[in-house]
Amino acid sequence: MHFPFCRRKCTYCALHSRAGSTVAARAAYVAGLAKELSRLDIQSHSLSTVYFGGGSPALCDPTPLLEALQPLLAPECEFTVELHPLDVNRGTLASLKAHGVNRISMGVQSLDDGTLRHMGRGYSADEAEQSFSLVKEYFDNAGIDLIVGYPGDPCDVAKMDRLSHWGLRHCSVYSLILEDRSILAKQATRLTFPDDDEVLDKIKLVSRFLRSMGLNRYEISNYAVPGVECRHNLAVWRGEDYIGLGEGAHGRRGLTRTESGKPETVSPEEDEKERRIFRLRTIEGIDTTGHTEWIAPLDAFASKGLLVKDGPIYRLTERGTEVCDSILAELV
Ligand code: SF4
Repeated sequence: MHFPFCRRKCTYCALHSRAGSTVAARAAYVAGLAKELSRLDIQSHSLSTVYFGGGSPALCDPTPLLEALQPLLAPECEFTVELHPLDVNRGTLASLKAHGVNRISMGVQSLDDGTLRHMGRGYSADEAEQSFSLVKEYFDNAGIDLIVGYPGDPCDVAKMDRLSHWGLRHCSVYSLILEDRSILAKQATRLTFPDDDEVLDKIKLVSRFLRSMGLNRYEISNYAVPGVECRHNLAVWRGEDYIGLGEGAHGRRGLTRTESGKPETVSPEEDEKERRIFRLRTIEGIDTTGHTEWIAPLDAFASKGLLVKDGPIYRLTERGTEVCDSILAELV
């Protein structure tokens, strides 16, 4: 479920979201989501994961939606809410917990105060740490997002080291993409961006650091303590169905894909390919059983050291993770 409201626009962001909304507009949006949900044919206790993403979901009072969701949650449902560090307070955390939320993802993005200021995030690394520590009082299953490759962000061991005592269960690490519609794109000529090799080196450093804290890389951009990999992420990469509600949400049910509520039908062949090929992003890899036509192109990547073959399964090597997007672009 997508909540497209933010305090202000972060410099690097081109996601569908807006700053400066009123309380009434946000309440109307939540009521609209609850109504959309009530129109769907969902069996009770059948949702195995729920994800509230943004924007900053906690800028809204999600109570009507949380109440509408209660009868639909499976007993072991993984229920994640993304929180901006400035939205973390005891009242919000207690209310989310009381409504069945059991996982928090906090967008920290950088551990460098100058970078956070430039990004327009509105908090310091110390404040992010305090917010995360409060989150951990309510939710053990909590993690953060980081961006690598922001101009001027040192992202070095000294900065990363402060994470060692946070009790992270999960970390998503994204390399910066300079989006055309972002504020950063307008500032780009005045900034020095790290080149691809520097970004790869930083990702390797973050990766090594997270491994040293017991977080395994289970997907290109995601690390977790074994057993608490994000089920929601995995379901998407494993090709399972999901419902997307809200302005910027995507969904997949059978042959239907929805984007911002607009449905589109794909062919059975496209459907099968999409559901299988993106598994390459995970440590599970692609299973070519029943798809001998994929073997030749995958063998070609394997011969370049980008994939390893294990019977019908192909998985990324460490070098392959660095160029996964181009491998996928050739396969789809
Ligand atoms: S990064 Fe998140 S909080 Fe910042 S503008 Fe984009 S959606 Fe909003």
